[in-house]
Parts: sequence; structure tokens; C-alpha cells
Amino acid sequence: MSEVFTGSFTQQEPIPEEGIEAACAVLRSGRLHRYNLAGGEAGEVAHLEQEFAAATGARYCLAVASGGYAMACALRASGVQPGDPVLSNAFTLAPVPGAIASLGAVPVFVDVADDLTIDLADLRRQAASSGARVLLLSHMRGHICDMAALMEICDAAGVTVIEDCAHTMGAAWDGVPSGRWGRVGCFSTQTYKHLNSGEGGLIVSDDPEVMARAVLLSGSYMNYDLHASAPPPEAFGDLRRDVPNISGRMDNLRAAILRPQLRTLEDQCARWNALYRLVEAGLQATPGLALIRRDPRECFVGSSIQFLLRDWPGRRVQAVLDRCRARGVALKWFGAPEPSGYTSRYDHWAFAAPPRLPQTDRVLAGLVDMRLPLTFTREDCALIARIIRAEVSAVWQAG
Ligand SMILES: *Cc1c(COP(=O)(O)O)cnc(C)c1O
Repeated sequence: MSEVFTGSFTQQEPIPEEGIEAACAVLRSGRLHRYNLAGGEAGEVAHLEQEFAAATGARYCLAVASGGYAMACALRASGVQPGDPVLSNAFTLAPVPGAIASLGAVPVFVDVADDLTIDLADLRRQAASSGARVLLLSHMRGHICDMAALMEICDAAGVTVIEDCAHTMGAAWDGVPSGRWGRVGCFSTQTYKHLNSGEGGLIVSDDPEVMARAVLLSGSYMNYDLHASAPPPEAFGDLRRDVPNISGRMDNLRAAILRPQLRTLEDQCARWNALYRLVEAGLQATPGLALIRRDPRECFVGSSIQFLLRDWPGRRVQAVLDRCRARGVALKWFGAPEPSGYTSRYDHWAFAAPPRLPQTDRVLAGLVDMRLPLTFTREDCALIARIIRAEVSAVWQAG
């Protein structure tokens, strides 16, 4: 009898009791809106913003309604206009080109390299030829490129970097937290990310003008003085009549849930990495399977794992997925002809009229992806790796 895994790849941990209690207190108060404050209280959202700014070392932080909203808000606050080209990763998820498209701007996709980071040679070429003034850099699935090299390319080309850190909250490159290399860092607190409030987003920056614009855009009306982690009121003087109010605020309920989670983020990241290393070790030296090389300067968070079945015909990759699924292991494939579930790729995003990218096509054709929720045990991870290893080997040998 072959082993079967019976756990769930989509089950996150419960909200900590402390968060549930704080949420109940907000509910009992009735004051869910962030600016509905009584008797000198700062409010859960303002506290969360201060704490997240401190955690990332940023001067300013703004909490918003989603990660997608955070990216669109950061792009708009950075001056992106309708029709502008905006560089971004060809390997990312739909909310990233979606954020660009929400402004009427046009995504320009940059190739993915073999280690799943943005291809810096292609970035250099496209920064010179596309006319784009902004790069929305997605640290997709937590893979962080050489950030010093990327910043050098972008600085030289006059390209502003906005980081999509949906998969890198708690991560760093060469000791600098993810989200702190570019002008703006954008995070998500949607259920499948590193903090869970159902939906939610966070923006960090040191730039007072960008952040004042972001606060006004997010729907602050003239309540910007109630922000504890925003530029001083003078920074809003010239902007407050010019910047439209595009409501996307976070509420006190979500912030209440997030604050206790933020306090344990570091420990949670260590737990993810322990699970990641177990699966990685279990897949080591599987014939036909290539693991992704991780740079020693990359302090990543292993909340998911990827591997390549490089240059395998599609029907054999599909056979691996089918055989693993039959044994309870849910894998996702970026080479599938049709978008499915949360997984799609650049050539499915017809609204952006993407050109063909042969290098990216080749990487994505063999790219398999798996979630690692913290509800998995060490034994679960060892079992999952045994199943993948057996099924990849079986299909490889039959080939
Ligand atoms: C989840 C995600 C986001 C943000 O998504 P929201 O659901 O809007 O919070 C951004 N980028 C990537 C790569 C994501 O996976």
C-alpha cells in the first residue's frame, strides 16, 4: 500500500486568542472605522502602523484594505499616470499586473531567471528601452534577487522601485528587510500570506511626499493628523486639494487581529523555514527534479516551495501532478495551458497584450509549486516529500 497524505494545503493556523480578544473588544466598542476614536485613544490601526514601521525599520507605514490596493496606491502615489509603461515580473500572480492595469497603466513584463527571480540582464535592457519610470518588483514565492545589483540598474536608469512583498514579509536580502530596498514596500495580510486578517495590506516608505499622497489616496479625508506613522501635517498642505480620495482603508477589527500576529512573526518565519528545509532535503537528488538554488544573502521565508521538472513534456508534468493528487499532495503548475485556481501566468493576462517570452516560457513550463501552511508537522513534510519523490521518479523512469 502506498502512503497517502490526508492534511489540507489551504488550512492556516487559528487567530491567536489574544487577537480574538482584541477583536471582540473592538466589536463591543462599535468603533470599527479607523478614525472613529474615543477619549484620546490612538486606535488599533494607528498602533499597527507604528508597530509595522518599527518591525521593518521604515519611517512611515500605512495600513490599507488589501495587498492589491497597497500596490495600486503606491504606484499612484509615485506618479504613475494612465498609459504609462510599468516594468514588472513575468513570473508573478494576477494582482500585480492587475494593480498596474487599475491605473490605466501598461505592464511591461521582465523575464524570470532559473532561480525564479527577475532576470537582471533583461531588466537592464527593458529599463533602457521601454520608457518605464517605475518597476513593480514582485518577490514572487519569496525568491529575492540580488537587490544591490537591481537597485544599481534601476538607479542608473532613473527607475523607481516599488516592492511587492506579499511573499517576503519577514524576509531580508543581505540584512536589509524586504520592502526596504525600493522607495515603497507593499505587503498583504490576506489569509494565505504571513499574517492573516482575511484581507488587508501594508505600505512602508521613508519618502514623506509619497507617503502623504498614499495616506490621502487611501481615504483619510482630512484626518491625516490622526496617523501616528505618517509625515507631519505640513507635508499634506499642498497635496490635500490635489490628491483624490480612493477609499481603501484598513479597519480597527483587522488591525486588532494582526497586532498579536506581528509580535510572533519572527518565530513563525523560523517555523516555515524548518518545514521548507525538510521538504527540500526529502527531494534532494530526485532524478529529473531540480530544486531552486537559494543565495546565502537571501534570508527568505519558506511559506511555499518550488521545483523544476526542466524540459519535461507537459503531459508528463501533468502525470506527476495527477499521481501526487491521488495521494493527497496538491501541487500547482505554472506551465498549465489554462489558468486554474490562484495560478495563472503572464500570457493569460491578455489585457496587457504580452509579447511571447521564450526564456520565461521555458522556466514556467517545468515549474511546480506547493504551499507549506504552518498547520503541517515535520512528519507531514517528510511524508509529502516521499510521495513527490516516488511519483516524480516513477514518471521519470517510465519516460
Ligand atoms: C497575494 C498577492 C498579492 C496581494 O494580494 P491581495 O490578495 O490583494 O492582498 C500581491 N502579490 C502577490 C505575488 C500575491 O501572491
